[in-house]
Amino acid sequence: MKTAGVVGAGVIGACVAFCLAQRGVHVQCVDRGRPGELTTEVSFARLSAFQQPTCARFELSHTGMLEHLRFARQFEEAPWWHPTGSLAWGEASESPSFAEVVHRLGVWGYRAIWCDAVQVNREWESGIAFPDPKTPVVLFPDEGWIDGPRLVSALLEAAQKTGFLTLWRGAVEDIEVRADRVVALRLDSGARVEVDAVVNAAGPGAPAVAAMLGAPMLAGIATRSSLVLDLRTDGDPVEHVLRGAKAHVRSAGTGRVRVRSEQVDARLPAGSGFEPGDEITKDLLERAYRTVPALESSTVERSRLGTAVFPADGFPSVGALPAVPGYFEAFANSGITLAPFIGRTLATQIVTGEVHPLWARSSPDRLRATS
Ligand SMILES: Cc1cc2nc3c(=O)[nH]c(=O)nc-3n(C[C@H](O)[C@H](O)[C@H](O)COP(=O)(O)OP(=O)(O)OC[C@H]3O[C@@H](n4cnc5c(N)ncnc54)[C@H](O)[C@@H]3O)c2cc1C
Repeated sequence: MKTAGVVGAGVIGACVAFCLAQRGVHVQCVDRGRPGELTTEVSFARLSAFQQPTCARFELSHTGMLEHLRFARQFEEAPWWHPTGSLAWGEASESPSFAEVVHRLGVWGYRAIWCDAVQVNREWESGIAFPDPKTPVVLFPDEGWIDGPRLVSALLEAAQKTGFLTLWRGAVEDIEVRADRVVALRLDSGARVEVDAVVNAAGPGAPAVAAMLGAPMLAGIATRSSLVLDLRTDGDPVEHVLRGAKAHVRSAGTGRVRVRSEQVDARLPAGSGFEPGDEITKDLLERAYRTVPALESSTVERSRLGTAVFPADGFPSVGALPAVPGYFEAFANSGITLAPFIGRTLATQIVTGEVHPLWARSSPDRLRATS
């Protein structure tokens, strides 16, 4: 493999491009926007396996979290990586109950430390308002968050330094296949970029890129929208990632906090082409204030609707599509958590043909089956 095209420079495309360049493959990475500015930018970007409902999906996310440590250690500094740990507590009405979820995670080998609200306020986070001093809280010490755009720019810069990466600004409009092999990318500028293989890492654009090759994704594709607010704060009121019963809150760098809420997201209409009204924004702000009262003096810096697009069965689509030699897919939910692991293992597969066993249920072929 001499030259690989990577369509999309979000967190997944950047990880794949970096790992390919490290292995001496010439990478032609194309993005129609600013690298990292789409889903990766608006993401809550928590490193976590908490929400995974099955052992197989947990295993993937847990591996992805651990890979971030290994990844960060390749760099002298990793300013994008915030291994803060997270604090979580639930609501009595949740089903399955918060305690059941934590128990299941423990059985699967996830580190979780039970404590209570008083201990959290005394030892770690004095600014959280809990419903009751006895509220059971769990510390997940291996969780944290990632500054996605910062990771993307660090990877692209490092890959460019190897001399094996060329970055293109433009939309891929077609993928040329000759004698059943991928041979070139066609950009909206008219440029033709020769490649021996292509990786579809186009995030929400991945189904459209797959369709260019006559390999449409026929199985279910899910979308999930979330209202995300960035607040400007006096000082830094939280250190850990908080998965509170009413809102999720984390630092977003000095003097900034990012918030979202599952209950608020459940009120959003389906699809992505709408503006969340003032009432929904107010609901999210109030939930954030009830979680961390100091946020009442913050100001809203940005309000955005983030939409994730991913295979509906919850597994990523990672690997080759045998029907189109030279075509590889890297399309996932929880992409922040999984990106470095996808990058390393997919680059290995492209160079050596070796498929990592954890991708057994993530083959792109399954998205082409009609039932
Ligand atoms: C609100 C929200 C919260 C989330 N929270 C978490 C979380 O806590 N933890 C977690 O692990 N994950 C989370 N996710 C999911 C995670 O953010 C995504 O899985 C991940 O960012 C996807 O990265 P990506 O590189 O695939 O896509 P993107 O970041 O969307 O990048 C795709 C890139 O492809 C480019 N592109 C598309 N089509 C073309 C084309 N034809 N030609 C050229 N370029 C093209 C786009 O311009 C874009 O830059 C969340 C997502 C959302 C929306």
